[in-house]
Amino acid sequence: MSANTDPKPTSPPPVRPSDAGASGQLGPKEAERPLNFIRQMVEADGAARKWGEWTAADAARPGAGQVAGTPRVHTRFPPEPNGYLHIGHAKSICVNFGLAKAYGGLFNLRFDDTNPAKEEQEYVDSIKADVRWLGADWDGPFGGGIYWSSDYFQKMYEFAEELIGKGLAYVCDLTGEQVAEFRGPPNRPGKPSPFRDRGAAESLVLFRAMRAGEFATGAKTLRAKIDMSSPNINLRDPIMYRILHEEHHNTGKMWCIYPMYDWAHGFEDSIEGITHSICTLEFENHRPLYDWFIRSVNQGRADGDKIHHAQQIEFSKLRPTYTVLSKRNLLKMVEEQMVSGWDDPRMPTLSGLRRRGYTPESLVAFCEDVGLTKVESFIDLGRLENAIREHLNKTAPRAMAVLRPLEVVIENWPEGKVDELDFVVNPEDPSAGVRKVPFSRVIYIEREDFMEEPPKKFFRLAPGQEVRLRWAYFITCTGLTKDAAGNITQVRATYDPATRGGDAPVGPDGKPTKKVKGTLHWVSAAHAVAAEVRLFDRLFGAEHPGERTGNAFDELNPGSREVVKALIEPHLVKGAVGERVQFERLGYFCVDRDSAPGAMVFNRTVTLKDGWAKDAGKA
Ligand code: ATP
Ligand code: MG
Repeated sequence: MSANTDPKPTSPPPVRPSDAGASGQLGPKEAERPLNFIRQMVEADGAARKWGEWTAADAARPGAGQVAGTPRVHTRFPPEPNGYLHIGHAKSICVNFGLAKAYGGLFNLRFDDTNPAKEEQEYVDSIKADVRWLGADWDGPFGGGIYWSSDYFQKMYEFAEELIGKGLAYVCDLTGEQVAEFRGPPNRPGKPSPFRDRGAAESLVLFRAMRAGEFATGAKTLRAKIDMSSPNINLRDPIMYRILHEEHHNTGKMWCIYPMYDWAHGFEDSIEGITHSICTLEFENHRPLYDWFIRSVNQGRADGDKIHHAQQIEFSKLRPTYTVLSKRNLLKMVEEQMVSGWDDPRMPTLSGLRRRGYTPESLVAFCEDVGLTKVESFIDLGRLENAIREHLNKTAPRAMAVLRPLEVVIENWPEGKVDELDFVVNPEDPSAGVRKVPFSRVIYIEREDFMEEPPKKFFRLAPGQEVRLRWAYFITCTGLTKDAAGNITQVRATYDPATRGGDAPVGPDGKPTKKVKGTLHWVSAAHAVAAEVRLFDRLFGAEHPGERTGNAFDELNPGSREVVKALIEPHLVKGAVGERVQFERLGYFCVDRDSAPGAMVFNRTVTLKDGWAKDAGKA
């Protein structure tokens, strides 16, 4: 064999960060199941043309994915730009964009910025990037555009005056505490506010004065006049507007009254022509309010003058085990430096998962696999890990790296000789072909793959024992060297030239002439390159963080991040940020953005097997 030490330049390119995502197609898993309840509803609405049809003008928009005469489906994803998106949001994006795409409809990205706050451009940018990464376009064939709730403040204000005029809303002087106290518990009727019967004219004057800035923050509210004895607390004269002397990133100092979520949300949907307003289950008992507000605006209006009334639909939140999701908690982890940032690879944020090496395809597959229900339940985090394993098993090229190297000298291998062996790039994908991997006299194996005094079923390397080096040769251990402290510093071995490629020759009976039980990964010392490898594990050690002590952060997993100096195959030094690879026997890894030429950094995305599964004995 020639001594060509140049790493094979013909290796197929590793998997690149992909642009595919949030498919509107039913994935293989979902296709086997009956249509989920939201799709059933959308299809029934479509058959009845409940929301009308796309017109020729709609279909004529350049690049439009809508067909004239087909039923309208228009969804939205409405994040509040107060943090980075997490895996729960991915579910919502997949549901909403998936519906628009599957039914030739439209999908809006709407920043729900009704709370006055400084503009957090960082959050806005990250949300856009994450939505796109998942494959959900707001400006493609199924894109309805990008919107800001604060653009509707004036319109909402006009609706509020209209309700006051109809005697359906009043200005109330109770404090926040009093409002809560007067509402009472759900099982007993509440007590009406003394301001409930304030006349419409007086309320209107006061509401205008609220808007004009004549009252202090919190001094007054505008409340809907609904039902103080409703068993649904949300209907006990909910607050529509509160006074807040705060600047808003979009509207500046124009407003000092700000709409409450329940009051605002339906109008946002209405103005944008949303058909199915999909939210999570905790809003189920807000739906009567959502409907009441729209109906109240429409009350007394002529047919042609009525505003659009979308259908609110709730599904249960995605709640994976071993993590926390709410932005409030995630922000705390970032601020208190429990993690390195929003995109720490252990974070359940989309930017964290992306940096960790997750593909958008795997997240979409996971969301489809989990399905849509109205039942609150936890989803085993292992299912998310399985989704990325499944995708990378099919797509990630294989390579070898040694995390904790132990030197092995092949005594009967000539000094300076290099063999170039065929390495199958991906056994799951024959089209990925083979590449060459250099083998020489000194190699490294994983320290834990050698034992001086092995227990019975240790099939890896030990004195006198023979193993296979992946794609290379069988070697037999002939001796070892220790330092003064008794640590093994070097292992010696001989190789069997008849086993080149990693298989024993076949005998006259058609069977291999010998067998070994263990197969080890390795790198050639003369060719290997040092790299930093970050080994991540679950961020929380408990299935339901916080259940035990009431504080989720008590259960942070101290072993969730470990950094090792590894040795990797030489061709990997060309990896671009985000490139993914399977290190044989160790897991799936990707190139971290901290990588620099000559100083590669890899993140472990996931191990090859679930170490947390109950049958792995670590439940
Ligand atoms: P969090 O408290 O985690 O920040 P949120 O609901 O306050 O979540 P928003 O920015 O208001 O965050 O959410 C945008 C959309 O994402 C909403 O429609 C919301 O219902 C949805 N969403 C949020 N969390 C989840 C989840 N865990 N599963 C599914 N959808 C979710
Ligand atoms: Mg929120």
